[in-house]
Amino acid sequence: MLCERCNENEPTVFITKVIHGGMTKRNLCEECDKVENPEGFDHTCFYCGEKLVNAVLCPLCQAELFRFMHSKGLIFPTDHPTPEQVAEIKAMEAELEKHMKNWVAQRKRD
Ligand SMILES: [Zn+2]
Ligand SMILES: [Zn+2]
Repeated sequence: MLCERCNENEPTVFITKVIHGGMTKRNLCEECDKVENPEGFDHTCFYCGEKLVNAVLCPLCQAELFRFMHSKGLIFPTDHPTPEQVAEIKAMEAELEKHMKNWVAQRKRD
């Protein structure tokens, strides 16, 4: 699957944006995301605050989020998520957030 806008690059804008409230559900590559969202979003990891280049989660937090979602039976849709999948993920938002906060706190202690 390719970026919806340029049809050239791999899309890198993930469903983390869906989880964290109403941002684009489109599949865009980094370049097109920058063009379409010039304001962008905080370039720090949503959970641990690590500085990032145009992403919402650092690789560590992303891996843990995926792992946790899988453990809950949620398959992470990297392509177009169905409205049902989005609803399912939204329904778990609070739980995901709580888990990730605990996990980050644990990680920083180590
Ligand atoms: Zn693109
Ligand atoms: Zn992080």
